[in-house]
Amino acid sequence: MIENIFDTHAHYDDVRFNEDRDELIRSLPNKGVSGVINIGCTLPRSQKSVDLANKYDFFYAAVGIHPSDVEGLPADYINRIKTMAQNEKVIAIGEIGLDYYYDGYDKELQIKIFKEQLELAREINLPVVIHSREATGDMMEILREYRPKGVMHCYSGSAQTAREIIKLGMYISFTGVITFNNARRAVESCEVIPMDRLLLETDAPYMAPTPFRGQRCDSSMIVEIAKKVGEIKGIPAQEVADICAENAKLLFGID
Ligand SMILES: [Zn+2]
Ligand SMILES: [Zn+2]
Repeated sequence: MIENIFDTHAHYDDVRFNEDRDELIRSLPNKGVSGVINIGCTLPRSQKSVDLANKYDFFYAAVGIHPSDVEGLPADYINRIKTMAQNEKVIAIGEIGLDYYYDGYDKELQIKIFKEQLELAREINLPVVIHSREATGDMMEILREYRPKGVMHCYSGSAQTAREIIKLGMYISFTGVITFNNARRAVESCEVIPMDRLLLETDAPYMAPTPFRGQRCDSSMIVEIAKKVGEIKGIPAQEVADICAENAKLLFGID
């Protein structure tokens, strides 16, 4: 069994866990999971992340506004995130970023909210968890300007962009997508990322790795991602899990 699994990105507040959330979370340590960061997307879901982190020892929280949820925010939303971030189990601002995938998005608003949260993260000295979809040009421009400490999650870009993100001092994490048959780009990117900048994540309940593709994902499935990264890097899956857990603790300031 692979141990010391640190899942740096999951959404256990999602409705898909309503039936068995407690039971499932309590079973995770027996499956080798030693740490989970529950990631916020909206104000209420950020609060739920904090609640989960308060409830379970091995859970931590990120709080922030996802780029797809930037509309209709209250004027004092930054202060509300700041207040939540005072909890000692809040270890990052996220997930924040840009998402131009779905029609009808408000680009200017996404950029404004992203920048405001980057500024907050800098002010309170927390790393950021960044979401970027179909927005590489704008994203890289903003990252070059702000140079945040943090991770680019669910990485789907090119190896060349990965190199630049690493040069900016950031980490990159992969979900189950890297195990898919058509994941050539993710594999090529993984090849150029040094082991000390890699993180593992599930993005549960989404992105279940092969052979669980299409099912509800949970943190124990990260084993399949560790195996795949191990294959790419030519090292055992346990070593991948150990190194990535250390990387996560270093980035997020967890002892
Ligand atoms: Zn995301
Ligand atoms: Zn996510």
